[in-house]
Amino acid sequence: MFENLSDKLDRAFKVLKGQGTITEINVAETMKEIRKALLDADVNYKTAKAFTDDVRQKAIGQNVLTTISPGQLLTKIMNDELTELMGGATAELSFPATPTIILIAGLNGAGKTTFTGKLANFLKTQKGKKPLLVAGDVYRPAAIEQLKVLGEQIGVPVYANMESKDPISIAREGVALAKQNGNNVVIVDTAGRLSIDEAMMVEIEQVKAALNPHEILFVVDSMTGQDAVNTAKVFNDRLDFTGVVLTKLDGDTRGGAALSIKSVVNKPIKFIGTGEKMDALDVFHPDRMASRILGMGDVISLVERAQQQFDEKQAAELQKKIRKNKFDFNDFYGQIQQIKKMGNMKDLMGMIPGVGKAMKDIEVDDNAFKSIEAIISSMTPFEKENPDSINQSRRNRIAKGSGTDLAEVNRLIKQFDDMRKVMKQMSNPAAMANMMKRMP
Ligand code: GDP
Repeated sequence: MFENLSDKLDRAFKVLKGQGTITEINVAETMKEIRKALLDADVNYKTAKAFTDDVRQKAIGQNVLTTISPGQLLTKIMNDELTELMGGATAELSFPATPTIILIAGLNGAGKTTFTGKLANFLKTQKGKKPLLVAGDVYRPAAIEQLKVLGEQIGVPVYANMESKDPISIAREGVALAKQNGNNVVIVDTAGRLSIDEAMMVEIEQVKAALNPHEILFVVDSMTGQDAVNTAKVFNDRLDFTGVVLTKLDGDTRGGAALSIKSVVNKPIKFIGTGEKMDALDVFHPDRMASRILGMGDVISLVERAQQQFDEKQAAELQKKIRKNKFDFNDFYGQIQQIKKMGNMKDLMGMIPGVGKAMKDIEVDDNAFKSIEAIISSMTPFEKENPDSINQSRRNRIAKGSGTDLAEVNRLIKQFDDMRKVMKQMSNPAAMANMMKRMP
């Protein structure tokens, strides 16, 4: 996500690295590079210009303290300004009524139906809600079918009426059913529509007027960049939606939509879609996204995802082992299984400070673990518990047994050793503080 932008911003900062002070000249040069980076990421021109003007003003007004470098200071200013640009505070959904009615709108293929399912799953599993889905795409029977399948998968009821071609009455029937069955949230999926299709735009305005929804979420494909922003503007003029959902941020998006949408329509991004699966949905946190863009990682999200998957008792045990330097291949194997449950690998890696950048050209897919798992499985119980015992002849045997080669086994053991060293360091506060000091 956003690797290119992160990379270019990093290069822009280099202008200031090694400089003792912030001057009009070196800031102007840096801002030129930052603006270029933003434009390359498909950020709208006006937004990019206003943004760099702001950052420049803030940077020039600052005294550089002796404890931080101009580069660090600029990173801090950029972090604050990027956060602001993407909306500042996290915008939560509101649930002012029972049932709360949420209307989903957007273009065909934006990811509406997928998001409808993801949102229901999120509300059910993370917020303890009892949602009902309403299949309001009367033009495509396949879309209704798709929603039913998703509902089944996540265990959420779906109301559909194949006989009717009237989205308003379907939505009303859905709300009535929710009241009857005690569902406290109703999520209404609608047909995709083009903003230039006047009849379709009038129809969704009518659905809005009839339903009086508490939230209207506009779903848009982040890969479409500036188009996403323009479409958002047209939809917002007609619907006055309450929030944006950016989908497909796991893909090769340049990030422009995420950065420009708030400043163009003045509506917050509420969720981001990061994959096709039902759990690939994140609440959008502008501050965390800013820090990811700046290559500072997003440790908070990483920890949250981990918390959703990890067993606390097990984690405490593990910490104890790490502190005693007893972390072994059984633990390593266990950790891989946990990580696999947490979602898309490359995405996770990107959340670790510094790692996203280092990994940007490396293809990580979930099969990446296959040979590691095979190698560990070919170790004897003794070897797993005593990693230091794995000598040359054992390595040869393990390579053969796992169908890999010696180089691969050597690499894994080296990585494992390095990891143990880092873990040991991290469990020592003094060493950790030292490491932080060396961060750019
Ligand atoms: P709709 O026409 O707006 O209802 O769009 P769909 O929900 O049918 O999604 C269109 C395609 O995009 C499907 O193939 C989805 O699996 C895919 N999709 C939706 N959201 C995401 C996402 O966040 N990431 C990725 N990679 N694919 C997505």
